[in-house]
Amino acid sequence: IEPLPAPPDTRIMVVANQKGGVGKTTTTVNIAAALAMGGLSVLVIDLDPQGNASTALGVEHSTGTRGTYEVLLDGDAIEDLVVVSQEAPNLRVLPATVDLAAAEVELVSVVAREGRLNKALRTYLKDHPADYVFFDCPPSLGLLTLNALVAANEILIPIQCEYYALEGVSQLMQTINLVKGELNDELDLSTVLLTMFDARTKLAAQVVDEVRAHFTEQTLPMVIPRSVRISEAPSYGQTVLTYQPESTGAESYLAAAREIARRGAKENS
Ligand code: ADP
Ligand code: MG
Repeated sequence: IEPLPAPPDTRIMVVANQKGGVGKTTTTVNIAAALAMGGLSVLVIDLDPQGNASTALGVEHSTGTRGTYEVLLDGDAIEDLVVVSQEAPNLRVLPATVDLAAAEVELVSVVAREGRLNKALRTYLKDHPADYVFFDCPPSLGLLTLNALVAANEILIPIQCEYYALEGVSQLMQTINLVKGELNDELDLSTVLLTMFDARTKLAAQVVDEVRAHFTEQTLPMVIPRSVRISEAPSYGQTVLTYQPESTGAESYLAAAREIARRGAKENS
């Protein structure tokens, strides 16, 4: 992959959609890896107790591994816990273990509970400037996702080309607007990516039209096809870009990453 343009300031993107299985993790790891392969410095923060992003990026996250939980609850420094991904030397990952499931509850009684991640990330970025930070969120709008929304400046919503694609998106928009008004006025829904597109079905094409009508500027022009290669890659601890670089799945995520980088470089210049 050719060198990709850096944004003028760190783009901190939350990959969110409280529906499960829409492609949040797949999008996070593949876009992050593509940007890193394009020479940019990228950090992925795994906020899902399932740790699927850690798995897909080939990073250890068995019980006992220190990661997002320790940053949120124990005040550990991100710089002490990040691990370099096998995908690229400039791709770093803060892993998540199953312990993180408890954080959702334990955070409730913590002071400034929704700003913990933001504080830790600002400290980290001062000494370790990054071009991109991605948060891979769990499928809920609880305190973990809220911490990401407070720390971020952009939201990337993956939408699956399936029945009820927009279900839940209006609730997500309400949450975003609430956070924007109360906790983080920088927050901007900048990017929508259509995932698991099946060209054989009429429904998928209808969903694409519907989403483009609704999020005209935000929706990326390319769609991610449904592809077996994409779903196989994580079981090898790889992104599809490394697992099957010639596949249409890899090509489509590369194209999406190029477009994200292009828009980000242009936006602020
Ligand atoms: P989420 O993080 O929103 O729960 P995932 O990214 O984990 O969603 O995707 C859900 C499942 O669908 C996973 O098994 C993943 O491998 C698979 N998947 C994601 N994107 C694609 C795609 N484009 N083609 C085929 N399978 C996909
Ligand atoms: Mg996920």
